[in-house]
Amino acid sequence: MYTSTDMPANILLVEDDKPIAENVILALERDGYACSHVQLGASCMRSLSSNAFDLVILDVGLPDMNGFEVCKAIRKSSNIPVIFLTARSDEIDRVVGLEIGADDYVLKPFSPRELVARVKTILRRSQLSPPPGQSVPGIHIDEDRACILCNGIVLDLTRAEYFMLRAMIRVPNKIFDREALMDAAGLAEASLDRVIDTHIKSLRAKLVTAAPGVEIIHTHRGMGYSFVPVSEK
Ligand code: CA
Repeated sequence: MYTSTDMPANILLVEDDKPIAENVILALERDGYACSHVQLGASCMRSLSSNAFDLVILDVGLPDMNGFEVCKAIRKSSNIPVIFLTARSDEIDRVVGLEIGADDYVLKPFSPRELVARVKTILRRSQLSPPPGQSVPGIHIDEDRACILCNGIVLDLTRAEYFMLRAMIRVPNKIFDREALMDAAGLAEASLDRVIDTHIKSLRAKLVTAAPGVEIIHTHRGMGYSFVPVSEK
């Protein structure tokens, strides 16, 4: 069966050095990743707001913005994994430190194979659980009690709703099509699309009670749904 987890991970590469970018794109595509490439920090922010990506590879030295500033801006609304490309080893402490919130870094010059290996590791980790220390503000999964808390309130979820919401929270901003949500919820393949839509509607109603005025589950018309973390106001 074809599920969204079989889809190639979608990587956003932000790098103004064309030869480096070309090598990275080649290596990523050879390993089956889908890759979009931009050269500016501003383009990176635009791409992230209009498309679903699984990981960002971010050069520190960009023409318009410092990569650190780009990462800080990303972190205001997203937990998407970020790998930095940096030419300066003295920057590493800042990069991986809490200050910037990146997941990893690669020091230039680097081998594209090494970078792809990092990408693979981080994607595997991020699909298993949210990165440590980067849990989504206001939302907490209590695995032991099989419940989800929103702003400290335990959501009164059905079993299917719990598994659907948990799957979405674990990979923020990723679009889950109905098939993927059925899988997550353990629903029969024959379930109608409408069943998923009904679950989503019910989930939204429960989330609104706990977090009024905040749209946590986004609809992507014709594609599916995604969990969008929102910073605490
Ligand atoms: Ca550069």
